[in-house]
Amino acid sequence: MNVCVIGTGYVGLPTGVGFAELGNKTICVDKIEEKIAALNDGKITLFEEGLEELFHKNVANGNLKFTTATSEAVPNADIIIIAVGTPPNPATKEADMRYIYEAASEIAEHLSGYTVIATKSTVPVGVGDEVEKIIGGKNPKADFDVVSMPEFLREGFAVYDFFNPDRVVIGTNRDRAKTVIEALYGSYKQKPNILYTSRKSAELIKYASNAFLAVKIHYINEIANLCEKVGANVYEAAKGMGLDSRIGSKFLNPGPGYGGSCFPKDTNALAYLARKANVDLTIVETAIKGNDNRKIDMARRIIDAAKGIAGASIAILGLAFKGGTDDVRESPAIEIIAELLKNGFKIKAYDPKATQSAKAVLGDRIEYAVSVNDAAKDADILVVLTEWEEFKSISLKELQMRTKIIVDLRKTFDKRIAQADGFTYIGIGE
Ligand code: NAD
Repeated sequence: MNVCVIGTGYVGLPTGVGFAELGNKTICVDKIEEKIAALNDGKITLFEEGLEELFHKNVANGNLKFTTATSEAVPNADIIIIAVGTPPNPATKEADMRYIYEAASEIAEHLSGYTVIATKSTVPVGVGDEVEKIIGGKNPKADFDVVSMPEFLREGFAVYDFFNPDRVVIGTNRDRAKTVIEALYGSYKQKPNILYTSRKSAELIKYASNAFLAVKIHYINEIANLCEKVGANVYEAAKGMGLDSRIGSKFLNPGPGYGGSCFPKDTNALAYLARKANVDLTIVETAIKGNDNRKIDMARRIIDAAKGIAGASIAILGLAFKGGTDDVRESPAIEIIAELLKNGFKIKAYDPKATQSAKAVLGDRIEYAVSVNDAAKDADILVVLTEWEEFKSISLKELQMRTKIIVDLRKTFDKRIAQADGFTYIGIGE
């Protein structure tokens, strides 16, 4: 099939590469000329495990192309997948649909033959209707259907998730569109099950799912706080809770708060949608507020650990919002560092992949280390903020710190081993 993907970010690029790998002629469009120039130059623009290899392979075999010109990419497409950003409006926190509507309007004039337009970006309920109106208004002769195709990939596992989706949800009631969708997913070795819903339900499923996971994270963080006060252990509690199949063990890891480009933005957008519809979504509102406070509380925990150390310097391990990605959008690490900087601490940070992205946000306000040992050298406090696998094999004995204090917000180390190695260990919920 001929696939066109609009937007080459954390969703669009793995999607384009994935459909190309499945044998579809895929062309990816982005507005940012430097991004497309880099991709056309054989340089991958973001980190996802396994993506680079598939990218090179499919560029070489001619299945994958990149352009800035919608006019070049759209006319031949059987399906156009919109994967542009839907950032929060800074004032209201509602999802800003500007890029979606721009993309719809750019697509409209170049449509040729029957085309399915699939919105993969996370959009509020009803945006599919709006996209349909924009395209129909600009090009009344166009033959098209707009479907909702929400994305559920996990950053850090985008390639794995593309080829092994838990679920594929498609919002449409149009048979012609379903035939195109079936053909597209027919290119999988094993065709995933597709759940067809109304377009609006599909749009809602994405927000309701993300908000549910955010609430679950916030819940275990609050249980962790309670454990600290009453002498229980949150890891034992989470294990015991997770054995109940109705609860499930995932997303029961306490930490410094959820972050990333999705949970904060999508919880806010859902809460906004509910307020506008005069519906109480108090549980989501509470999680949003609690998660904001969580990051400040965790910064406070580090500040308290530094009490009594003159000119304390802090080694930070992890800048990405989670392990396996170079994405620092809404990363708790960035917010906690900002709070520490306000309090005058000297910081040296190490992240296996996210140093460049973090530099774009934090600039030279902190130092960047090239390894764990480099970050920890002469530091007073070692703080773990991202759950990178690499950190689990750190040998604490080898770190040349000035003072041996660990604030472990990701349960990277075993408390007893750290203590046996002479460290003061401050964790979460135990
Ligand atoms: P991103 O910011 O990484 O990428 C968006 C890209 O779209 C940018 O490169 C931008 O230049 C491009 N773009 C914007 N307008 C364009 C236009 N008119 N034509 C061509 N390109 C255009 O965003 P992302 O993280 O990939 O997220 C995209 C959407 O997917 C969002 O709605 C997000 O909520 C949703 N989503 C993201 C994830 C995730 O893990 N990142 C997961 C599921 C869903």
